[in-house]
Amino acid sequence: MPVRIAIDGFSSCGKSTVAKALAKELGYTYIDTGAMYRAVTLYFLRNQILLHEEKKVEKALQAITITFSNEGKEVWLNGENVSDEIRQMPVAENVSKISALKAVREAMVAQQRLIGQSQNVVMDGRDIGTAVFPNAELKIFMTADPEIRAQRRFKELLAKGEKISFEEILVNVTQRDHDDTTRVQSPLVQANDAITLDNSVLNEQQQLDFIKKLLPLNK
Ligand code: C5P
Repeated sequence: MPVRIAIDGFSSCGKSTVAKALAKELGYTYIDTGAMYRAVTLYFLRNQILLHEEKKVEKALQAITITFSNEGKEVWLNGENVSDEIRQMPVAENVSKISALKAVREAMVAQQRLIGQSQNVVMDGRDIGTAVFPNAELKIFMTADPEIRAQRRFKELLAKGEKISFEEILVNVTQRDHDDTTRVQSPLVQANDAITLDNSVLNEQQQLDFIKKLLPLNK
């Protein structure tokens, strides 16, 4: 039976940075489930699919294939590399609404379970330890002060040349926290058996060390 490590938590907590590094060290497959919801959102925006158009939503989900390359760092939507575009504001502003749809969640969770059935994975998201793999061998719940999270995302986007203010990002981060924790379908909530990792003041190596001490094989 493959080992599944679930890393859930709030937006822009650095989940993917630590999950990627952990997967690399362990030789596991890294899956960024947020990128999957972002790719779906991009498809919906491009094809002007509205949330209430149930038939169109179903059809769109059947037409979407999401794949990863380069150790999970690159995301492909129907054969197109959309890694940069899914990080931009139009997607960030719509992803929480689209990922709240039952049909969207069912389609993504089915794919995520399929991936975790055949290989060892480190998967990051919002509902991995609660809905996707409730029996995951290790569950981490990451959190950090919202201002610190917005500051990190701000620096990342500035480095990519995006023209955006810190305030806009802070609003987006807090809005997504709100949407993700209050939605009906699989809201963001800490699993009872998840271990909290508050990384407000921890660097990447300290976070990695924290998780490595908890690994099933090290217990
Ligand atoms: O992780 P990231 O911030 O890229 O995720 C983008 C959005 O996708 C989140 O704000 C959330 O609305 C949604 N998401 C989700 N379930 C997951 C992963 C992400 O609903 N497992």
